[in-house]
Amino acid sequence: MARIVMKFGGTSVADIDKIRNVALHVKREVEAGHQVAVVVSAMAGKTSELVGWAREASSMHDAREYDSIVSSGEQVTAGLLAIILQSLGVDARSWLGWQIQIKTDNAHGAARITEIDGEQLIERFNIGQVAVIAGFQGVGPDNRIATLGRGGSDTSAVAVAAAINADRCDIYTDVDGVYTTDPRIEPKATLLSQVSFEEMLEMASLGAKVLQVRSVEMAMVNNVRLFVRSSFEEPGAVDQNNFNGTLICSEDEILEKQVVTGIAYTRDEAQISLRRVSDKPGVAAAVFGPLAEANVNVDMIVQNVSEDGSVTDMTFTVPDGDLEKALAVLEQAKREIGFEVLQSDPGMVKVSVIGVGMGSHAGVAATAFKSLSEHGVNIRAITTSEIKISILIDAAYAELAVRALHSVYGLDKE
Ligand code: ASP
Ligand code: MG
Repeated sequence: MARIVMKFGGTSVADIDKIRNVALHVKREVEAGHQVAVVVSAMAGKTSELVGWAREASSMHDAREYDSIVSSGEQVTAGLLAIILQSLGVDARSWLGWQIQIKTDNAHGAARITEIDGEQLIERFNIGQVAVIAGFQGVGPDNRIATLGRGGSDTSAVAVAAAINADRCDIYTDVDGVYTTDPRIEPKATLLSQVSFEEMLEMASLGAKVLQVRSVEMAMVNNVRLFVRSSFEEPGAVDQNNFNGTLICSEDEILEKQVVTGIAYTRDEAQISLRRVSDKPGVAAAVFGPLAEANVNVDMIVQNVSEDGSVTDMTFTVPDGDLEKALAVLEQAKREIGFEVLQSDPGMVKVSVIGVGMGSHAGVAATAFKSLSEHGVNIRAITTSEIKISILIDAAYAELAVRALHSVYGLDKE
């Protein structure tokens, strides 16, 4: 017997028929003798509709009331799934965030879970009951509903799994797992059977939109094993020891460490270069301090070693949407910083090569650069970490670069 959390996203509960299909997945696990908690999202599109209504009511709405509106989508699906499970002879009960006391901080609209008492759920397991939990919500210190930010039911599921010490947290979604790159760009992308938390964090923040980034962070901290799999597989027919899906787990659990696991990319990056910046202590602080205060998210940062110790060049990237704001902030701080020329280019793409094994292999970066040069792709900036090489290029070359790198590291489907 295992204790498992099953999470179903919006497309998996989009209508009553799909919820029936979800119920069959749950029934299968219950019949296998497992203790099951289910976390559900709102029906596909519902949350966006509710957000729209709140905005239409007033653009300056109270965040607490926003939360009470947008959390309602999950309440509906939790109740519907409980009813359908009961009709299939499975004992089930729905739970809202406040009922199991999923406690959060006070940041309404983007709250963080601070504590969950798993005891009540475990008591229900002991009487053979399935807990159907509304995702995306908890209760704040003000005793009001707080939502966890868009995509937050992934985080609800991981938090519940940690609280009840689950053996596994299954994330059922509309894709069958995590791929080596975006299959829309490279049809030869393959499904990864295992990926480490660290790699997944890089992939999630770089565009593989499978899981809320925060849920992966939480899973890593609490060592909750995540299984991403499709809810559209036949619920009964699949052999449970042999189905498609991606296990996201700690690095130690991965026996065959790949040098490169995947190629990710982010569009809509803007490059900013400060030319002939004075080379003295405090300059980087003078550049990035005001940008941080203006809430501009700076990503890649590259600074040159100056030739004679007097002036240098500094290049960094910000999201396209923040470019204008960033330029205004920099112009305003020009005297303080002391640069001569401010250059910027919107519409860049960052392509990243990710793999936990690259730290212990020589030549991984050189392979990328050689491949890009053979394809005539010009590199604008490079940053690296222990498990990632990121390369900034012109958007026109994005797809070419992703395919070239995917192939050169041997990730293409045979
Ligand atoms: N229903 C919420 C959303 O659409 C939470 C989730 O689905 O994870 O953002
Ligand atoms: Mg989601």
